[in-house]
Amino acid sequence: MSISGLDPFTLITIALALFVLAYIAALSLGGRRKEMKVKKTFTKLKCVNCDHEFEREFREGDYVGKKVENGCPKCDGDALITAIYIKELEVNR
Ligand SMILES: [Zn+2]
Repeated sequence: MSISGLDPFTLITIALALFVLAYIAALSLGGRRKEMKVKKTFTKLKCVNCDHEFEREFREGDYVGKKVENGCPKCDGDALITAIYIKELEVNR
């Protein structure tokens, strides 16, 4: 008996090979999507003197509307905190 030249063993081998290939492909795809993400809190500030807007990492005690004396990196003027937000940063290993 010949079933178009393929015996069950060959069929199982091909099926297994396909399964392993699919598994490896799924693993490598998943690995690429698995980039490290770090959540960090930032504070946005605006200088009252020169209107310069900038951001820095959140520090304890920061709140919207707070005045940071001499906080402006441009003119050393007072800066007001206008927003506090969380950013998701991608970290490449
Ligand atoms: Zn300024």
